[in-house]
Amino acid sequence: MLKIEEINQKTLQCERCSLRNGVKQVVPGEGNPKAHLMLIGEGPGQEEDEKGRPFVGTAGKLLDKILEASQLKREEIYIANVIKCRPPRNRTPQTNEIESCKPWLDLQIAAISPDLIVCLGLTAARTILGVNDSLQNLRGRWHQFGEIKVLCTYHPAALLRDPKLKVPTWADFKMVMQECGK
Ligand code: SF4
Repeated sequence: MLKIEEINQKTLQCERCSLRNGVKQVVPGEGNPKAHLMLIGEGPGQEEDEKGRPFVGTAGKLLDKILEASQLKREEIYIANVIKCRPPRNRTPQTNEIESCKPWLDLQIAAISPDLIVCLGLTAARTILGVNDSLQNLRGRWHQFGEIKVLCTYHPAALLRDPKLKVPTWADFKMVMQECGK
């Protein structure tokens, strides 16, 4: 089995879809290669594209606050996205782009072998669980993905647009804390 560093190196060379043409950098992900918990978002935004790191823009700063309140450290978890290249104007990735990129995420999950995955937003939730349901229906309970327990919650960017979503998101992260023994 490939190690996470090897997968991410290969991802940097990837040209499987046209998103690669418009980006400054591919953003594979980062964190603890043996993480108990993996967070999966949708895709890089402008700052992530510039820095080559996931969740470092405004939404990333809010995620940092959520993690801190949840007593979770970035160094102990792994953070990745469904799509490794920023879509133009941060649009939602298209189905064919997700299908092209998902093998990288599958390899990352296999290499890290987390016990828990938290899907941040609808794209990650639908991609991981293979369903077409709404986030409202999917959040707030644990799902099973093979041996891995999966929780779906709102993307931090959604919380910036609609602060009312902070309440259910915090309820979801309390479930994560409980599962992490925090
Ligand atoms: S988005 Fe994914 S599949 Fe498309 S070029 Fe980037 S790494 Fe490759």
